[in-house]
Amino acid sequence: MYDPELIVIHGISLPPGEFGGHEIEQLFTNCLDWDRHPYFNEIRGLEVSSHLLIPRDGELVQFVPFTQRAWHAGASGFRDRSCCNDFSIGIELEGEDETPYDDRQYAALLGTLQALLAAYPTLSVRRIAAHSDIAPGRKTDPGPAFDWLRLYDGLSDALPTSGNRRN
Ligand SMILES: [Zn+2]
Repeated sequence: MYDPELIVIHGISLPPGEFGGHEIEQLFTNCLDWDRHPYFNEIRGLEVSSHLLIPRDGELVQFVPFTQRAWHAGASGFRDRSCCNDFSIGIELEGEDETPYDDRQYAALLGTLQALLAAYPTLSVRRIAAHSDIAPGRKTDPGPAFDWLRLYDGLSDALPTSGNRRN
C-alpha cells in the first residue's frame, strides 16, 4: 500500500490502431490469446496491468486498486525517482498516437483526475505525466493526438482556486 504521487497517462490499442475489442482487458488480466494475431505473438508473455482503462466510449474499467502497484510504466523516471510503478497510478486511454481521442474519453478522464486529486493530497496537476515523459525514447504514448491543453483547461476550470471566472 502506498500513497500515489504521480498519474501516468497512456494510450493503448490492441492490435495497434484497432478499437472496440476486448483485447486490452484480456492483456491486463493475463487472458490474451497470443496466437490470435501476429502482433499478439510479438508481445507474447508480456505481463502488464494498469489501474484504469478508458475505452473509446468513456466507460471506466478498473483493474487494480489505486493504493496497489500496477505494472504499466516499465523502466521509467519522474524527476529524481526511477521505477514509477512504485508510486504512480496508470490510466490507459484506448487510442493511438496519431488518432484524436474521443470526447467521452476526455470527459471520463477529467472526472477521474478530479476525483484522484481530491482523494490524494500527494497528487497535483504537476504530477500528471505522459508515458512518453517518464520513458522518453522508449515510449511515445499517448502521443501527439492527446490534447494536454484541453485537459489542463478542464482541470483549472474545475479547481476552486482557478481565479476570476464569471460564468
Ligand atoms: Zn503506455
